Amino acid sequence: MLSGKTAVITGASRGIGEAIAYKLASQGASIAVISSSGNADLEAVCEKCRCEFNVTAKAYRCDVSDFGDVKKTVAAIKADFGAVDILVNNAGITRDGLVAMMKEDDFDRVMEVNLKGAFNMIRHTAGMLMRSREGCIINITSVVGLTGNAGQCNYAASKAGLIGLTKSVAKELAPKGVRCNAIAPGFIETDMTKDLDNSPLIKMIPLGIPGQVEDVAEAAAFLAAAKYITGEVLRVDGGLAM
Ligand code: NAD
Repeated sequence: MLSGKTAVITGASRGIGEAIAYKLASQGASIAVISSSGNADLEAVCEKCRCEFNVTAKAYRCDVSDFGDVKKTVAAIKADFGAVDILVNNAGITRDGLVAMMKEDDFDRVMEVNLKGAFNMIRHTAGMLMRSREGCIINITSVVGLTGNAGQCNYAASKAGLIGLTKSVAKELAPKGVRCNAIAPGFIETDMTKDLDNSPLIKMIPLGIPGQVEDVAEAAAFLAAAKYITGEVLRVDGGLAM
């Protein structure tokens, strides 16, 4: 379904990004994976894409919050693949704390990675996405970007900002044939959430169970193929933010 297309996935060394890379590779897309750390993990993701799904896959170490680093990395991806058709902005971090005690750096860093990182990637791939004619951007936000969350003012603000970015880019690039959507996961079992006390949270999920990375990857594959959907925020949360 996606053969002939090139997908770039940020934050793909583990968790949700890794699962999205496999899902898009399983549908035939060539894969460029980006992460700021974990070279060995990123290489292992590429190896699995190549061996299990028989697609081209390449790893790039890049800090998405760094405008110049992203520019260089996207130039390298262009040289290696020639095009970008699908961009998944998945890289994200948390630095939780109460607003009255939050360090300035914790606020700034979360905004830089989660929000500016997505802008940097879109800014540098926009030309290739427009040339693709069926360009597609998927931003991984969060249900807390819709609802807010005590103890996560920085993270929730960055994810709410990502929704504004998604809708603005969707409006701006629609005439060029580029779609831009967001996925808002709820509670997904990954390294990011493994230290949380999840029992009270799970009680709040109408479907009664935490989500898996594959649930988010499924939604990403759906949006990659959904030719008439743009500017949408798709919750993958078991009903949590309903
Ligand atoms: P994770 O911590 O397991 O993985 C995050 C990935 O981002 C890693 O590959 C990491 O190396 C990469 N990364 C971090 N900073 C980076 C930077 N500056 N530049 C490039 N890469 C960087 O996280 P996850 O749970 O898989 O979450 C993935 C995305 O989904 C994040 O944006 C997160 O906010 C969002 N999300 C997760 C959940 C959840 O319950 N796990 C819920 C809602 C939203």
